[in-house]
Amino acid sequence: MVAACGTNNRLLEKVAEIYNWLDTQIRDNNKLTGQCNACGKCCDFDKFDHHLFVTPPELMYLTANLGAENIKSMLSSRCPYNIDGKCTVYEYRFAACRIFCCDADADFQSELSESALKKLKSLCTEFQIPYHYTDLAVALNTRNSGPKQKTIY
Ligand code: SF4
Ligand code: SF4
Repeated sequence: MVAACGTNNRLLEKVAEIYNWLDTQIRDNNKLTGQCNACGKCCDFDKFDHHLFVTPPELMYLTANLGAENIKSMLSSRCPYNIDGKCTVYEYRFAACRIFCCDADADFQSELSESALKKLKSLCTEFQIPYHYTDLAVALNTRNSGPKQKTIY
């Protein structure tokens, strides 16, 4: 369910469509997507030597659905939404969380990621939102103070 929360509802619907599309791609290619047992280890980025980058529409979607007051800062290398090893925002998790699996086919994962980013980037163009591809910790910790973001074109 997408909440309004001051954000363009059409944008939120389109992010949901991208996530649905991604989930379908993953379901339909289960030989390439790997078998995740939801252990949550990859949500501790330093320990797992892993990085998670997010885009503005994804953060807007999370904020609209959780409420701005529930957007957490990232105070350690573990995603703040991973509690006791479990994702507490599973329904609203980011594209990279959906795509990444530790034993997925690397080429499939990278192509899917590229396609998802293209879709998210074109949403930014359509809704005139500056496109940034930002490390999750930076995105969460600077969201109220002018994010220092990495822009890729
Ligand atoms: S949003 Fe969920 S799946 Fe993604 S890094 Fe955080 S806890 Fe892990
Ligand atoms: S992708 Fe791998 S490390 Fe991450 S939750 Fe799934 S099984 Fe655990």
